Amino acid sequence: MSPTTPQLVDLMIEARWVVPVEPHAVVLEDHAVVVQDSVIVALLPIAEARAAYAPLERVELREHVLIPGLINSHTHNPMTLLRGLADDLPLMVWLQQHIWPAEAKVIGPEFVRDGVELAVAEMLRGGTTCANENYFFPDVIGATYRRMGFRAVVGLPVIEFPTAWATTQDDYFERACEVHDSFRGDPLVSTAFAPHAPYTVSDESFERIRVLSDQLDIPVHLHMHETAHEVTEEKNKSGLRPFQRLQKLGLINDRLIAVHMTQLTDGEIAACAEAGVSVVHCPESNLKLASGFCPAEKLRQAGVNVALGTDGCASNNDLDMFGEMRTAALLAKAVAGDAAAFDAAYALRTATLNGAKAIGLDAKIGSLEVGKQADLAAVRLSDLETQPLFHVISQLVYAASRHQVSDVWIAGRRKLADRVLLDIDTDAVLARTHAWRERIAAH
Ligand SMILES: [Zn+2]
Repeated sequence: MSPTTPQLVDLMIEARWVVPVEPHAVVLEDHAVVVQDSVIVALLPIAEARAAYAPLERVELREHVLIPGLINSHTHNPMTLLRGLADDLPLMVWLQQHIWPAEAKVIGPEFVRDGVELAVAEMLRGGTTCANENYFFPDVIGATYRRMGFRAVVGLPVIEFPTAWATTQDDYFERACEVHDSFRGDPLVSTAFAPHAPYTVSDESFERIRVLSDQLDIPVHLHMHETAHEVTEEKNKSGLRPFQRLQKLGLINDRLIAVHMTQLTDGEIAACAEAGVSVVHCPESNLKLASGFCPAEKLRQAGVNVALGTDGCASNNDLDMFGEMRTAALLAKAVAGDAAAFDAAYALRTATLNGAKAIGLDAKIGSLEVGKQADLAAVRLSDLETQPLFHVISQLVYAASRHQVSDVWIAGRRKLADRVLLDIDTDAVLARTHAWRERIAAH
């Protein structure tokens, strides 16, 4: 008998394997994650866990690997309702003739709320527990994530023309500060500035963003160097590459979350590393829109923090971070001309701890470590599609699919149990989605 009484805790999850991500590339066998009040209080061998802790709830995952919940570092989740609306078109035709007109007809609080609900359901079933969001109506987006118990960083949009969300520049900034204030201290929802892109935001607005992001201590999340065309246009306009322009404005710093970055010189890569810029790689969106290839392996070698995002569902067309990890690894190898580049453990890191670092939450999430939030996903590896099993992390990245995600927790709360969403009325979400489909198709 144990000399001490086992400590009462909320939850113990026992798994055949645990990949904590930190330390890097480690696979623990027959370990348990112990959770109290949303926080991981221990990660240790199952036998020791059973001797030391008396959990109110115990979950046994005998055929599963437990990983940190995946972090989608760039997405526009209300656009999930536009999935598959227009495909196989060049970027500007797709945007100007299809996506923007459709959005103009439907955009508003209800569209945003229903799109995020559908996205949360999809993300949970794919092992994703946190999204870095970038869309209009951040008040509604944040409230929806909070109500659904899903972790998110909500972008505060800034763009140089009137939209359904705001009209003047002052209006954008006033609303941004209001939304930021309304989520201060929220355990799940925080904010970032989300200037759309260098080509749609003025120097004056960027200067305001730089000052405010310092004062409020929040990240700056923007699309950048998505295509060669964008870089050429800016050079014609200001004589500078977008990166140089942002450097001049003081925005190339460790708050910057630069999304896409398919066009980078070696000097710009070195500058990103030195300044602590995070780059979000969205390989499937870049491939589908033929935007270009992010030099992900070069960025990794230079020491840049590389995270992973799906981008919006209208250009992907899913929120599948397993698919994104695999595509990122395969594409990086092809671009680098090196099969050893961007290995499986690194791919998993871009979808977890590097994402957390990009959004400024790496002290809280991104790895399974004592003191961090219990954001977890379990993946069943006993299916024939993932057998035989030699290397757990390789199997996760190169063979497993999101359909093998069985269980998900956010802040210690179980959200998915054996593939069933616990606090989402799936039928109601689908009914609202069908109604939007009819409305959008009618246009
Ligand atoms: Zn985007």
